[in-house]
Amino acid sequence: MAVRVIEVDDFDLVVFGGTGDLAHRKLLPALYHRDLDGQLPAGARIIVTSRREFTHDEYQAWAEGALGEHVKDLEPAAVKRFLARLTYIAIDVAAEAGWADLGKILNARPNVIRAFYLAVAPDFFGTICDGIGRHNLVTSKTRVVIEKPIGKDGKSAQALNETIGKVFKEHQIFRIDHYLGKETVQNLMALRFANALFEPLWNAAHIDHVQITVAESLGVGGRAGYYDTAGALRDMVQNHILQLLCLVAMEPPESMNADSVRDEKLKVLKALAPITPELAEKHIVRGQYKAGASDGGAVPGYLDELGRDDSLTETFVAIKAQIANWRWAGVPFYLRTGKRLATRVSEIVVQFRPIPHSIFGPEAGVISANRLIIRLQPDEGVKMQVMIKDPGPGGMRLRQVPLDMSFADAFKVRNPDAYERLIMDVIRGNQTLFMRRDEVDAAWAWVDPILEIWAAAKDQPKAYTSGTWGPSASIALIERDGRTWAEDGI
Ligand code: NAD
Repeated sequence: MAVRVIEVDDFDLVVFGGTGDLAHRKLLPALYHRDLDGQLPAGARIIVTSRREFTHDEYQAWAEGALGEHVKDLEPAAVKRFLARLTYIAIDVAAEAGWADLGKILNARPNVIRAFYLAVAPDFFGTICDGIGRHNLVTSKTRVVIEKPIGKDGKSAQALNETIGKVFKEHQIFRIDHYLGKETVQNLMALRFANALFEPLWNAAHIDHVQITVAESLGVGGRAGYYDTAGALRDMVQNHILQLLCLVAMEPPESMNADSVRDEKLKVLKALAPITPELAEKHIVRGQYKAGASDGGAVPGYLDELGRDDSLTETFVAIKAQIANWRWAGVPFYLRTGKRLATRVSEIVVQFRPIPHSIFGPEAGVISANRLIIRLQPDEGVKMQVMIKDPGPGGMRLRQVPLDMSFADAFKVRNPDAYERLIMDVIRGNQTLFMRRDEVDAAWAWVDPILEIWAAAKDQPKAYTSGTWGPSASIALIERDGRTWAEDGI
Protein backbone atom coordinates (compact mmCIF):
# COMPACT_ATOMS: atom_id res chain seq x y z
CA MET A 1 0.00 0.00 0.00
CA ALA A 2 1.36 3.44 -0.90
CA VAL A 3 2.21 5.64 2.09
CA ARG A 4 -0.09 8.65 2.22
CA VAL A 5 1.77 11.73 3.33
CA ILE A 6 0.57 15.28 3.68
CA GLU A 7 3.41 17.78 3.49
CA VAL A 8 3.57 20.02 6.56
CA ASP A 9 4.01 23.79 6.38
CA ASP A 10 7.52 25.18 6.17
CA PHE A 11 9.35 25.18 9.51
CA ASP A 12 12.55 25.71 11.46
CA LEU A 13 13.07 23.11 14.18
CA VAL A 14 15.64 23.87 16.86
CA VAL A 15 16.83 20.86 18.85
CA PHE A 16 18.51 21.67 22.17
CA GLY A 17 20.51 18.61 23.24
CA GLY A 18 21.26 17.72 19.65
CA THR A 19 24.25 15.56 20.63
CA GLY A 20 22.36 13.53 23.23
CA ASP A 21 21.07 10.00 23.29
CA LEU A 22 17.51 10.98 22.39
CA ALA A 23 18.65 12.94 19.33
CA HIS A 24 20.90 10.08 18.26
CA ARG A 25 18.45 7.21 18.68
CA LYS A 26 15.11 8.85 18.03
CA LEU A 27 14.90 12.45 16.79
CA LEU A 28 17.32 12.36 13.86
CA PRO A 29 16.10 8.96 12.59
CA ALA A 30 12.46 10.12 12.92
CA LEU A 31 13.11 13.33 10.99
CA TYR A 32 15.03 11.41 8.32
CA HIS A 33 12.07 9.08 7.79
CA ARG A 34 9.64 11.98 7.46
CA ASP A 35 11.98 13.59 4.93
CA LEU A 36 12.35 10.31 3.04
CA ASP A 37 8.55 10.04 2.76
CA GLY A 38 8.33 13.55 1.37
CA GLN A 39 6.67 15.17 4.36
CA LEU A 40 9.23 17.93 4.93
CA PRO A 41 8.94 20.96 2.67
CA ALA A 42 12.03 21.83 0.63
CA GLY A 43 12.94 24.80 2.83
CA ALA A 44 12.53 23.10 6.24
CA ARG A 45 15.60 23.51 8.44
CA ILE A 46 16.79 21.61 11.50
CA ILE A 47 19.04 23.66 13.73
CA VAL A 48 20.85 21.53 16.24
CA THR A 49 22.52 22.87 19.33
CA SER A 50 24.42 21.56 22.31
CA ARG A 51 27.30 22.55 24.49
CA ARG A 52 29.84 20.63 22.40
CA GLU A 53 32.14 22.60 20.10
CA PHE A 54 31.45 20.65 16.92
CA THR A 55 32.35 22.05 13.52
CA HIS A 56 29.68 21.80 10.85
CA ASP A 57 31.44 18.80 9.29
CA GLU A 58 31.91 17.04 12.60
CA TYR A 59 28.22 17.30 13.37
CA GLN A 60 27.27 16.07 9.90
CA ALA A 61 29.45 13.01 10.50
CA TRP A 62 27.89 12.46 13.93
CA ALA A 63 24.37 12.72 12.49
CA GLU A 64 25.22 10.38 9.62
CA GLY A 65 26.53 7.91 12.17
CA ALA A 66 23.23 8.16 14.09
CA LEU A 67 21.26 7.36 10.94
CA GLY A 68 23.63 4.53 10.04
CA GLU A 69 23.12 2.98 13.45
CA HIS A 70 19.36 3.39 13.82
CA VAL A 71 17.84 3.36 10.33
CA LYS A 72 17.51 0.26 8.15
CA ASP A 73 18.19 0.50 4.40
CA LEU A 74 19.47 4.07 4.18
CA GLU A 75 19.04 5.72 0.79
CA PRO A 76 22.22 7.71 0.04
CA ALA A 77 20.44 10.49 -1.89
CA ALA A 78 17.90 10.93 0.91
CA VAL A 79 20.67 10.99 3.53
CA LYS A 80 22.46 13.72 1.60
CA ARG A 81 19.28 15.79 1.29
CA PHE A 82 18.53 15.32 4.99
CA LEU A 83 22.02 16.24 6.19
CA ALA A 84 21.86 19.42 4.10
CA ARG A 85 18.97 20.57 6.32
CA LEU A 86 21.09 20.43 9.48
CA THR A 87 22.88 23.46 10.91
CA TYR A 88 24.90 23.09 14.10
CA ILE A 89 25.47 25.82 16.67
CA ALA A 90 27.29 25.40 19.98
CA ILE A 91 25.28 27.00 22.79
CA ASP A 92 25.95 26.55 26.47
CA VAL A 93 22.41 27.28 27.57
CA ALA A 94 23.58 28.45 30.96
CA ALA A 95 25.75 31.15 29.34
CA GLU A 96 25.32 33.83 26.68
CA ALA A 97 27.52 32.61 23.81
CA GLY A 98 25.70 31.19 20.82
CA TRP A 99 22.24 32.67 21.38
CA ALA A 100 22.90 35.61 19.05
CA ASP A 101 23.93 33.18 16.26
CA LEU A 102 20.74 31.23 16.79
CA GLY A 103 18.71 34.44 16.65
CA LYS A 104 20.38 35.47 13.39
CA ILE A 105 19.58 32.15 11.75
CA LEU A 106 15.97 32.10 12.93
CA ASN A 107 15.23 35.74 12.19
CA ALA A 108 16.11 35.18 8.55
CA ARG A 109 12.73 33.42 8.34
CA PRO A 110 10.43 35.05 10.91
CA ASN A 111 7.21 33.83 9.30
CA VAL A 112 7.70 30.09 9.16
CA ILE A 113 6.66 27.72 11.93
CA ARG A 114 9.30 27.65 14.63
CA ALA A 115 9.60 24.75 17.06
CA PHE A 116 12.04 24.39 19.95
CA TYR A 117 12.64 20.80 21.07
CA LEU A 118 14.15 20.62 24.55
CA ALA A 119 15.98 17.26 24.45
CA VAL A 120 18.04 18.11 27.53
CA ALA A 121 17.89 17.34 31.24
CA PRO A 122 14.82 18.97 32.83
CA ASP A 123 17.05 21.19 34.98
CA PHE A 124 17.68 23.16 31.78
CA PHE A 125 14.05 23.61 30.69
CA GLY A 126 13.64 26.86 32.64
CA THR A 127 17.02 28.27 31.56
CA ILE A 128 16.34 27.52 27.88
CA CYS A 129 12.83 28.97 27.93
CA ASP A 130 14.22 32.02 29.64
CA GLY A 131 16.95 32.33 26.95
CA ILE A 132 14.38 31.97 24.16
CA GLY A 133 12.28 34.71 25.78
CA ARG A 134 15.19 37.08 26.48
CA HIS A 135 16.40 36.80 22.90
CA ASN A 136 12.93 37.49 21.53
CA LEU A 137 12.76 34.24 19.62
CA VAL A 138 9.05 33.57 20.19
CA THR A 139 6.81 34.39 17.22
CA SER A 140 3.07 33.75 16.87
CA LYS A 141 3.95 30.48 15.09
CA THR A 142 6.35 29.21 17.77
CA ARG A 143 5.94 26.03 19.82
CA VAL A 144 8.08 24.29 22.43
CA VAL A 145 8.42 20.56 23.08
CA ILE A 146 9.14 19.39 26.62
CA GLU A 147 10.41 15.89 27.38
CA LYS A 148 9.70 13.95 30.55
CA PRO A 149 10.15 14.08 33.47
CA ILE A 150 7.90 17.02 34.26
CA GLY A 151 8.81 17.52 37.88
CA LYS A 152 9.48 15.02 40.65
CA ASP A 153 6.19 15.75 42.42
CA GLY A 154 3.18 17.99 41.95
CA LYS A 155 4.86 21.02 43.46
CA SER A 156 7.98 20.89 41.31
CA ALA A 157 5.88 20.16 38.20
CA GLN A 158 3.83 23.28 38.92
CA ALA A 159 6.98 25.35 39.37
CA LEU A 160 8.36 24.04 36.06
CA ASN A 161 5.09 24.72 34.25
CA GLU A 162 5.05 28.24 35.72
CA THR A 163 8.56 28.88 34.40
CA ILE A 164 7.73 27.62 30.92
CA GLY A 165 4.44 29.50 31.07
CA LYS A 166 6.28 32.82 31.48
CA VAL A 167 7.53 32.48 27.90
CA PHE A 168 5.02 30.21 26.17
CA LYS A 169 1.23 30.06 26.22
CA GLU A 170 -0.42 26.70 26.89
CA HIS A 171 -1.36 26.25 23.22
CA GLN A 172 2.34 26.52 22.34
CA ILE A 173 3.53 23.90 24.86
CA PHE A 174 3.82 20.28 23.68
CA ARG A 175 4.51 17.94 26.64
CA ILE A 176 5.57 14.78 24.94
CA ASP A 177 4.70 11.28 26.10
CA HIS A 178 6.01 9.11 23.30
CA TYR A 179 3.74 6.22 24.28
CA LEU A 180 0.83 8.22 22.88
CA GLY A 181 2.47 8.40 19.45
CA LYS A 182 2.66 4.64 19.11
CA GLU A 183 0.68 3.13 16.27
CA THR A 184 -1.13 0.65 18.51
CA VAL A 185 -2.17 3.34 20.97
CA GLN A 186 -3.74 5.20 18.06
CA ASN A 187 -5.33 1.94 17.06
CA LEU A 188 -6.87 1.61 20.50
CA MET A 189 -8.77 4.83 19.81
CA ALA A 190 -9.77 3.58 16.36
CA LEU A 191 -11.00 0.28 17.78
CA ARG A 192 -13.01 1.95 20.49
CA PHE A 193 -14.51 4.81 18.55
CA ALA A 194 -14.64 3.68 14.92
CA ASN A 195 -16.41 0.38 15.64
CA ALA A 196 -19.87 -0.21 17.06
CA LEU A 197 -18.70 -3.55 18.42
CA PHE A 198 -16.62 -2.61 21.44
CA GLU A 199 -18.17 0.45 22.99
CA PRO A 200 -21.40 -1.22 24.22
CA LEU A 201 -19.23 -3.79 26.03
CA TRP A 202 -16.66 -1.30 27.29
CA ASN A 203 -17.81 -1.07 30.91
CA ALA A 204 -18.06 -2.80 34.26
CA ALA A 205 -20.91 -5.02 33.09
CA HIS A 206 -18.70 -6.77 30.52
CA ILE A 207 -15.09 -6.09 31.44
CA ASP A 208 -13.69 -7.97 34.41
CA HIS A 209 -10.47 -6.04 34.77
CA VAL A 210 -7.67 -4.30 32.87
CA GLN A 211 -3.92 -4.89 33.16
CA ILE A 212 -1.26 -2.47 32.02
CA THR A 213 2.30 -3.78 32.08
CA VAL A 214 5.46 -1.90 31.14
CA ALA A 215 8.25 -4.40 31.74
CA GLU A 216 11.92 -3.89 30.95
CA SER A 217 14.55 -6.61 31.01
CA LEU A 218 17.42 -4.12 31.35
CA GLY A 219 18.60 -2.72 34.65
CA VAL A 220 19.47 0.90 35.36
CA GLY A 221 23.12 0.43 34.32
CA GLY A 222 24.92 3.75 33.89
CA ARG A 223 21.77 5.75 34.71
CA ALA A 224 21.69 4.55 38.33
CA GLY A 225 22.52 7.99 39.73
CA TYR A 226 19.59 9.65 37.96
CA TYR A 227 17.24 6.72 38.46
CA ASP A 228 17.79 6.69 42.19
CA THR A 229 16.21 10.15 42.41
CA ALA A 230 13.17 8.96 40.43
CA GLY A 231 12.08 5.31 40.81
CA ALA A 232 9.49 3.32 38.88
CA LEU A 233 6.44 5.25 40.08
CA ARG A 234 7.72 8.61 38.85
CA ASP A 235 9.56 7.24 35.82
CA MET A 236 6.73 5.16 34.35
CA VAL A 237 3.44 5.32 36.25
CA GLN A 238 2.91 9.06 36.64
CA ASN A 239 3.23 9.59 32.90
CA HIS A 240 3.14 6.62 30.48
CA ILE A 241 0.98 4.18 32.43
CA LEU A 242 -1.58 6.75 33.58
CA GLN A 243 -1.82 8.09 30.03
CA LEU A 244 -2.53 4.59 28.71
CA LEU A 245 -5.08 4.06 31.47
CA CYS A 246 -6.81 7.28 30.40
CA LEU A 247 -7.11 6.15 26.79
CA VAL A 248 -8.61 2.83 27.85
CA ALA A 249 -10.99 4.34 30.37
CA MET A 250 -12.07 7.71 28.93
CA GLU A 251 -15.57 8.46 27.68
CA PRO A 252 -15.92 9.02 23.92
CA PRO A 253 -14.63 12.53 23.30
CA GLU A 254 -16.81 14.89 21.29
CA SER A 255 -14.17 14.80 18.51
CA MET A 256 -10.45 14.17 18.04
CA ASN A 257 -9.91 17.83 18.76
CA ALA A 258 -7.07 18.23 21.28
CA ASP A 259 -9.12 19.71 24.08
CA SER A 260 -12.01 17.26 23.63
CA VAL A 261 -9.65 14.30 24.08
CA ARG A 262 -7.72 15.91 26.90
CA ASP A 263 -10.90 16.93 28.74
CA GLU A 264 -11.96 13.27 28.78
CA LYS A 265 -8.54 12.05 29.91
CA LEU A 266 -8.55 14.61 32.69
CA LYS A 267 -11.91 13.31 33.97
CA VAL A 268 -10.43 9.82 34.28
CA LEU A 269 -7.44 11.09 36.25
CA LYS A 270 -9.73 12.99 38.57
CA ALA A 271 -11.88 9.89 39.07
CA LEU A 272 -8.95 7.72 40.20
CA ALA A 273 -9.72 6.60 43.75
CA PRO A 274 -7.14 8.22 46.04
CA ILE A 275 -4.62 5.88 47.64
CA THR A 276 -4.80 6.04 51.44
CA PRO A 277 -2.18 4.44 53.73
CA GLU A 278 -4.56 1.50 54.31
CA LEU A 279 -5.06 1.00 50.57
CA ALA A 280 -1.35 1.38 49.88
CA GLU A 281 -0.71 -1.51 52.27
CA LYS A 282 -3.11 -3.79 50.37
CA HIS A 283 -3.01 -2.49 46.80
CA ILE A 284 0.59 -1.51 46.14
CA VAL A 285 3.75 -3.59 45.95
CA ARG A 286 7.11 -1.96 45.52
CA GLY A 287 10.22 -3.89 44.73
CA GLN A 288 13.93 -3.56 44.06
CA TYR A 289 15.89 -6.02 41.96
CA LYS A 290 18.73 -8.06 43.33
CA ALA A 291 21.33 -10.02 41.38
CA GLY A 292 20.07 -12.75 39.07
CA ALA A 293 20.12 -13.78 35.44
CA SER A 294 18.85 -11.73 32.55
CA ASP A 295 19.15 -12.23 28.78
CA GLY A 296 21.16 -15.37 29.40
CA GLY A 297 23.83 -13.91 31.70
CA ALA A 298 24.43 -13.10 35.36
CA VAL A 299 23.55 -9.52 36.28
CA PRO A 300 24.22 -7.46 39.43
CA GLY A 301 21.55 -6.13 41.76
CA TYR A 302 20.34 -2.53 41.83
CA LEU A 303 22.33 -1.57 44.93
CA ASP A 304 25.53 -2.94 43.39
CA GLU A 305 24.94 -0.91 40.25
CA LEU A 306 24.26 2.15 42.37
CA GLY A 307 27.31 1.56 44.55
CA ARG A 308 25.34 2.14 47.77
CA ASP A 309 23.41 -0.13 50.08
CA ASP A 310 20.94 2.31 51.60
CA SER A 311 18.64 3.16 48.69
CA LEU A 312 14.89 2.74 49.18
CA THR A 313 14.18 3.56 45.51
CA GLU A 314 11.77 1.15 43.86
CA THR A 315 12.68 -0.44 40.54
CA PHE A 316 9.30 -2.20 40.45
CA VAL A 317 5.80 -1.21 41.36
CA ALA A 318 2.44 -2.98 41.03
CA ILE A 319 -0.76 -1.11 41.84
CA LYS A 320 -4.39 -2.07 41.93
CA ALA A 321 -6.10 1.16 40.88
CA GLN A 322 -9.80 1.90 40.86
CA ILE A 323 -11.69 4.44 38.80
CA ALA A 324 -14.62 5.74 40.80
CA ASN A 325 -17.21 6.46 38.14
CA TRP A 326 -20.27 4.79 36.64
CA ARG A 327 -18.49 3.06 33.79
CA TRP A 328 -15.70 1.50 35.82
CA ALA A 329 -17.02 1.02 39.35
CA GLY A 330 -15.68 -2.29 40.66
CA VAL A 331 -13.31 -2.92 37.71
CA PRO A 332 -9.71 -3.06 38.91
CA PHE A 333 -6.94 -1.64 36.76
CA TYR A 334 -3.79 -3.57 37.65
CA LEU A 335 -0.74 -1.51 36.77
CA ARG A 336 2.75 -2.94 36.81
CA THR A 337 6.18 -1.76 35.75
CA GLY A 338 9.72 -2.69 36.57
CA LYS A 339 13.29 -3.11 35.50
CA ARG A 340 15.17 -6.39 35.16
CA LEU A 341 11.95 -8.32 34.68
CA ALA A 342 11.61 -11.61 32.82
CA THR A 343 11.20 -9.95 29.44
CA ARG A 344 10.76 -6.57 27.75
CA VAL A 345 7.12 -6.04 27.01
CA SER A 346 4.58 -3.22 27.23
CA GLU A 347 0.98 -4.18 26.85
CA ILE A 348 -2.58 -3.45 27.83
CA VAL A 349 -4.83 -6.43 28.48
CA VAL A 350 -8.58 -5.87 28.59
CA GLN A 351 -10.07 -8.97 30.19
CA PHE A 352 -13.75 -9.48 29.44
CA ARG A 353 -16.08 -11.34 31.79
CA PRO A 354 -16.64 -15.06 31.27
CA ILE A 355 -19.75 -16.27 29.43
CA PRO A 356 -22.68 -16.57 31.82
CA HIS A 357 -23.44 -20.22 30.99
CA SER A 358 -21.80 -22.95 28.92
CA ILE A 359 -23.86 -25.14 26.64
CA PHE A 360 -20.83 -27.34 25.98
CA GLY A 361 -19.99 -30.50 27.86
CA PRO A 362 -16.72 -31.21 29.72
CA GLU A 363 -15.16 -32.72 26.55
CA ALA A 364 -15.21 -29.23 24.98
CA GLY A 365 -12.45 -28.13 27.37
CA VAL A 366 -12.03 -24.87 29.25
CA ILE A 367 -13.81 -21.82 27.88
CA SER A 368 -11.55 -18.82 28.46
CA ALA A 369 -13.04 -15.35 28.63
CA ASN A 370 -12.26 -13.01 25.73
CA ARG A 371 -9.22 -10.83 26.00
CA LEU A 372 -8.18 -7.82 23.96
CA ILE A 373 -4.40 -7.43 24.01
CA ILE A 374 -2.79 -4.23 22.85
CA ARG A 375 0.96 -4.74 22.58
CA LEU A 376 3.05 -1.57 22.44
CA GLN A 377 6.46 -3.17 22.35
CA PRO A 378 8.14 -5.18 21.07
CA ASP A 379 6.22 -6.11 17.89
CA GLU A 380 3.37 -3.61 18.14
CA GLY A 381 0.04 -5.27 17.53
CA VAL A 382 -3.55 -5.77 18.62
CA LYS A 383 -5.03 -9.20 19.16
CA MET A 384 -8.37 -10.43 20.40
CA GLN A 385 -8.47 -13.84 22.00
CA VAL A 386 -11.63 -15.68 21.02
CA MET A 387 -12.91 -19.23 21.42
CA ILE A 388 -13.46 -21.31 18.29
CA LYS A 389 -14.20 -24.91 17.53
CA ASP A 390 -11.07 -26.95 17.00
CA PRO A 391 -11.11 -27.51 13.23
CA GLY A 392 -11.81 -30.97 11.81
CA PRO A 393 -13.42 -34.08 13.22
CA GLY A 394 -13.14 -35.12 16.85
CA GLY A 395 -16.30 -33.69 18.33
CA MET A 396 -16.97 -30.25 19.72
CA ARG A 397 -13.64 -29.35 21.23
CA LEU A 398 -13.03 -25.66 21.83
CA ARG A 399 -9.80 -23.76 21.56
CA GLN A 400 -8.68 -20.22 22.22
CA VAL A 401 -7.09 -18.45 19.24
CA PRO A 402 -5.69 -14.95 18.85
CA LEU A 403 -7.44 -12.90 16.18
CA ASP A 404 -4.88 -10.49 14.71
CA MET A 405 -6.38 -7.02 14.49
CA SER A 406 -3.29 -4.98 13.75
CA PHE A 407 -2.99 -5.69 10.04
CA ALA A 408 0.47 -4.12 9.72
CA ASP A 409 1.62 -7.11 7.65
CA ALA A 410 -1.53 -7.09 5.52
CA PHE A 411 -1.07 -3.43 4.58
CA LYS A 412 2.69 -3.85 4.16
CA VAL A 413 3.53 -0.51 5.74
CA ARG A 414 6.48 0.26 7.94
CA ASN A 415 5.36 0.92 11.50
CA PRO A 416 6.48 4.53 12.02
CA ASP A 417 8.25 5.34 15.25
CA ALA A 418 6.16 7.36 17.72
CA TYR A 419 8.52 10.33 17.41
CA GLU A 420 7.81 10.62 13.68
CA ARG A 421 4.12 11.25 14.24
CA LEU A 422 4.64 13.41 17.32
CA ILE A 423 7.20 15.76 15.75
CA MET A 424 4.94 16.25 12.71
CA ASP A 425 2.02 16.95 15.09
CA VAL A 426 4.14 19.65 16.73
CA ILE A 427 4.75 21.28 13.34
CA ARG A 428 1.04 21.02 12.51
CA GLY A 429 0.16 22.49 15.91
CA ASN A 430 -1.98 19.48 16.85
CA GLN A 431 -1.88 18.92 20.61
CA THR A 432 -4.23 15.90 20.77
CA LEU A 433 -1.44 13.49 21.71
CA PHE A 434 0.33 15.82 24.14
CA MET A 435 -0.39 16.34 27.83
CA ARG A 436 -2.11 19.48 28.95
CA ARG A 437 -0.93 21.14 32.13
CA ASP A 438 -4.00 20.16 34.14
CA GLU A 439 -3.49 16.51 33.18
CA VAL A 440 0.04 16.61 34.55
CA ASP A 441 -1.24 18.20 37.76
CA ALA A 442 -4.02 15.62 38.12
CA ALA A 443 -1.60 12.73 37.56
CA TRP A 444 0.71 14.08 40.26
CA ALA A 445 -2.26 14.65 42.58
CA TRP A 446 -2.86 10.88 42.49
CA VAL A 447 0.83 9.91 42.68
CA ASP A 448 1.97 12.37 45.36
CA PRO A 449 0.15 10.67 48.28
CA ILE A 450 1.78 7.34 47.35
CA LEU A 451 5.22 8.96 47.44
CA GLU A 452 4.36 10.54 50.79
CA ILE A 453 3.19 7.23 52.25
CA TRP A 454 6.44 5.57 51.18
CA ALA A 455 8.55 8.42 52.47
CA ALA A 456 6.82 8.24 55.86
CA ALA A 457 7.10 4.46 56.10
CA LYS A 458 10.82 4.46 55.18
CA ASP A 459 10.54 0.73 54.56
CA GLN A 460 12.67 -1.31 52.24
CA PRO A 461 11.15 -2.26 48.85
CA LYS A 462 10.67 -6.02 48.50
CA ALA A 463 13.67 -7.66 46.87
CA TYR A 464 13.13 -9.63 43.67
CA THR A 465 15.56 -11.69 41.66
CA SER A 466 16.58 -10.15 38.34
CA GLY A 467 14.98 -11.96 35.42
CA THR A 468 11.71 -12.74 37.25
CA TRP A 469 8.33 -10.97 37.20
CA GLY A 470 9.01 -8.98 40.36
CA PRO A 471 8.31 -9.68 44.03
CA SER A 472 6.00 -12.60 44.83
CA ALA A 473 3.78 -10.07 46.61
CA SER A 474 2.88 -8.70 43.17
CA ILE A 475 1.56 -12.11 42.15
CA ALA A 476 -0.32 -12.33 45.45
CA LEU A 477 -1.79 -8.85 44.84
CA ILE A 478 -3.73 -10.04 41.81
CA GLU A 479 -4.24 -13.67 42.88
CA ARG A 480 -6.01 -12.54 46.05
CA ASP A 481 -8.70 -11.28 43.67
CA GLY A 482 -8.87 -14.65 41.88
CA ARG A 483 -7.03 -13.36 38.81
CA THR A 484 -3.56 -13.77 37.31
CA TRP A 485 -1.14 -11.55 35.43
CA ALA A 486 -1.37 -12.21 31.71
CA GLU A 487 2.13 -13.37 30.87
CA ASP A 488 1.35 -15.60 27.93
CA GLY A 489 1.66 -12.66 25.51
CA ILE A 490 0.17 -12.59 22.04
P1 NAD B 1 21.75 13.12 27.16
O1 NAD B 1 22.42 13.32 28.47
O2 NAD B 1 22.19 12.00 26.29
O3 NAD B 1 21.91 14.45 26.28
C1 NAD B 1 21.80 15.73 26.84
C2 NAD B 1 22.10 16.79 25.81
O4 NAD B 1 22.09 18.05 26.49
C3 NAD B 1 23.46 16.68 25.13
O5 NAD B 1 23.33 17.05 23.78
C4 NAD B 1 24.30 17.73 25.87
O6 NAD B 1 25.35 18.27 25.09
C5 NAD B 1 23.26 18.78 26.14
N1 NAD B 1 23.65 19.67 27.23
C6 NAD B 1 24.00 19.35 28.50
N2 NAD B 1 24.33 20.47 29.18
C7 NAD B 1 24.18 21.52 28.35
C8 NAD B 1 24.36 22.92 28.47
N3 NAD B 1 24.78 23.49 29.60
N4 NAD B 1 24.10 23.68 27.38
C9 NAD B 1 23.68 23.14 26.23
N5 NAD B 1 23.49 21.80 26.05
C10 NAD B 1 23.75 21.01 27.09
O7 NAD B 1 20.19 13.05 27.46
P2 NAD B 1 19.04 12.32 26.60
O8 NAD B 1 19.00 10.88 26.99
O9 NAD B 1 19.20 12.65 25.17
O10 NAD B 1 17.72 12.97 27.20
C11 NAD B 1 17.32 14.30 26.92
C12 NAD B 1 15.93 14.55 27.53
O11 NAD B 1 15.00 13.64 26.96
C13 NAD B 1 15.87 14.32 29.04
O12 NAD B 1 14.92 15.20 29.59
C14 NAD B 1 15.36 12.89 29.14
O13 NAD B 1 14.69 12.66 30.37
C15 NAD B 1 14.39 12.87 27.98
N6 NAD B 1 14.11 11.54 27.46
C16 NAD B 1 15.11 10.79 26.91
C17 NAD B 1 14.82 9.55 26.39
C18 NAD B 1 15.89 8.70 25.73
O14 NAD B 1 15.54 7.66 25.19
N7 NAD B 1 17.14 9.11 25.75
C19 NAD B 1 13.51 9.04 26.44
C20 NAD B 1 12.50 9.84 27.02
C21 NAD B 1 12.83 11.08 27.51
